[in-house]
Parts: sequence; C-alpha cells; structure tokens
Amino acid sequence: MSDARTLALLGGEPAISRPLPHEVWPPPASEEELAALAAQRNLDISIKGSSGPIAELERDFLDFLENRVRWAVTFNSGTSALLAAYFALGVREGTEVIGPALTYHAALSPVHVLRGDVVLADIDIRTRGVDPRAVEEAITERTRVLTVVHQWGHPCDMDALLDIADRYGLKVLEDCSHAHGSRYKGRPCGTFGDAAVFSLQANKAVFAGEGGILVTDDAEVHDRATLLGHYRDRSRDRVVDEELRRFWVTGFGLKLRMSPFNALVARHSLAAFPARREARHQCLHYLNARLRDVPYLEPVHVADEVDMGAWYGFKPLYRPEALHGLPRAVLIEALRAEGMEVSAPSGPRLATLPLYSDADSPLFPGAPRRAAAPEEGSVAEHVERHALSLPTFTNWPEDKALIDEYVEAFRKVGRESAALAAHAARR
Ligand SMILES: *Cc1c(COP(=O)(O)O)cnc(C)c1O
Repeated sequence: MSDARTLALLGGEPAISRPLPHEVWPPPASEEELAALAAQRNLDISIKGSSGPIAELERDFLDFLENRVRWAVTFNSGTSALLAAYFALGVREGTEVIGPALTYHAALSPVHVLRGDVVLADIDIRTRGVDPRAVEEAITERTRVLTVVHQWGHPCDMDALLDIADRYGLKVLEDCSHAHGSRYKGRPCGTFGDAAVFSLQANKAVFAGEGGILVTDDAEVHDRATLLGHYRDRSRDRVVDEELRRFWVTGFGLKLRMSPFNALVARHSLAAFPARREARHQCLHYLNARLRDVPYLEPVHVADEVDMGAWYGFKPLYRPEALHGLPRAVLIEALRAEGMEVSAPSGPRLATLPLYSDADSPLFPGAPRRAAAPEEGSVAEHVERHALSLPTFTNWPEDKALIDEYVEAFRKVGRESAALAAHAARR
C-alpha cells in the first residue's frame, strides 16, 4: 500500500510535491536589461580603456563596498582576477601561498601558473574557512600570501587571521566569490585584505555571466594587476606609477578584460542584489532554524558577528551516528526519492586533485615542487564526507511552503530510518 508514512524509496508517497529544479539561478533578465544589451550592440562592443558600462560597473562596485577601497578592476573571469591578484601580490617561483584545504580550486590554482607553492591549511568546522591555528602552523620563511575564502558566504575569522598576517608580514588575499554582501563585524568582506576578488560567474550572487572583479586599496597592487591583464589604453590611462606606466603598450603580456555585455549584466544584477539578498536571508535563516528539529543534521553555523550576505551555498552536516550509521549516499538516495534536490557537494579537497598532489609539477616538468600532503583526520575531510548540498532558496515567501516540505521530508526519513537501514542492509 502506498502511503505518506512509508519512505518513497520503499514505495511510499514522496513528501515533496513540487517538481525539480528547486534552485533556479541565475534569474531571467528584466526588459530594461535586455534593452540595454541591445543598445550596447551598436554603441561599443569592445571597451579598451575603462569607459561606458565597464566604468559604471566598477564605480557601482566600489559603492557596494561603501568606498572603503579605492580601486576596482574588472576581468573576464574570477580566475583571471585571481591570477592578476597573485601576480600583483608578488607570488613567484619560491614563494608559498597558504589557503584552505577545502574550497573551490580556482581560489588557489592560479598560483601554480606563477610557479608558487600552495600550502593547504585545515578549515574551521564552524566558519568553513581556514583555521587561524592551522595557518600559523603552516607559515615558513617563504610564505608570502594568505588566501582566505569566505566559504558559502560565511566570513572567516578575520581578527585572528589579520593578526597572524600582521605578525608574520603576510599579504592577505580575500576570495569573495561566495561572499557578495557578506559582513564581518559590520564591515563588508572584500575590504579587509591587501586585495580581494569577487567572481561574477553565472552561479554567483552577483553575476556577469563570465567575469570577475579585483578590488584593492593598494596602488602598487592596482598597477601590477592592471598591467598583467589590461595592456594598452587601460594601462596608459590608469596605472598610477610612472615607472610602471612605461609598460602600457604591452602591459605584462595578457589581455584578460571583460566584455561590455558582461558588464551590463553585472550592473543589473548588482542593482537587483539587495532585494535578492533579503529574500535569501529570509529563506535560509528560516530553513536553518527549522533544521534544529532534525537530530541527524547539524545546521549551518552563523556566528553572531557575521552577516551571511547572499548565502552562496547551504551545506548542513550529516551526523550518521544519529541515524544508525547509515552512509551519506543512502541518506541522499532516500531524500531524493522524497523529491528533494540534494547531493553531496561537488568540490573535493584540493589535496586530492592532481594539480596539487602530483610530486612532479605538471606545468613545469622536471621542476622540484612541494606537493600537497594527505590530510587524514582533518576537519576538511570530515566536512567533505558529511556535508549535504541543499538549494539556496531565493523566493520569499513563495518558497516557505517548499522549505516546510523539505523539513518534513528530513523528519520522515528520520522516523523511518530503521526501515531504511534494513533496506540498505538487504542490498
Ligand atoms: C567561482 C569561484 C572562483 C572562480 O571564478 P570564475 O569566475 O568562475 O573564474 C574562484 N573562487 C571561488 C571560491 C569561486 O567560487
């Protein structure tokens, strides 16, 4: 007999009725945005300096950061902006960059192009960002940059990290690709470090489609990042230091600039951001509070002194000991059968990726390098194995009923976990 109590995996009725997908992002363009894109087509389709929508986006972005930093430079991707930031901060052969063991790889991968060494530090179970104690242990006389990623929108423990950077003379790079609108003790993420990068890729809370933006309050970082990715007009017009400006024709060799179409999309999404951020706050604070009724889940930690910004991802932790030790994969299978959009997060620990772990550098064959060590028993490994990825609901109050169904589905699986364990054991 099919009924609402029996697990859908075992033939019962699913707890969630709305068809997938439940996370719909990026949202569609307004008429106004489409008209602006059409007009741009015959106005200017390649902006060599910084004018038109490129200049407007950069100005808007500095306003968004409350003008706490002086410069914003657009790039064709977050990864390109990160490459420029590492270059500008002095990463080169022989220097070490410390960053989190579990994050999106592009936060650190460009270091390899510059022949720097990445040193992975364990993360903090609450912030999901680098753990200050692990950072301090990883420092050597070759360490030059500390990369902090405000993972899933939760700001890192900036007081402790800035103190360490200060004591050891490290540059700080903030990767804010998850943290548009996030704040630590009231101050926007992206205004703490020597440089910060926000990806504006389509999945991000402020999006260009493809794009990234580097912000800094340091003239030398601005100049060197500009020269790396913006030869000719922009370097001629914008580089502050005369000695460096001599290189404007060639820059430092790369062209990594944003297209005006992407800048227009980004401007519109930045303008729509405050309302979207508010809706995500409503949805995800509500969901997170309701997860306290699910004993086998650990809700997302939100420290008192932080603002989660746009909650780029929502990843509570599974506690198998509260569910007969059932493997996460079985739980996910049961939840998906209930109609839930849930998965294991896709990004593995960086130490498991060949770019990081191969003893020989694949970029510069034959060159000695420091390969990432395995991290048995680390927090990063625990999070990698136990996190669940849920939709970042964006519509409030429309999504409230769906969120309630999610909670009901979690509770149903909890109530019926003995049947689920028996089912798993039979296979
Ligand atoms: C998306 C992302 C990047 C890369 O940005 P792209 O614009 O896709 O190149 C880097 N770091 C983090 C943390 C990201 O989420």
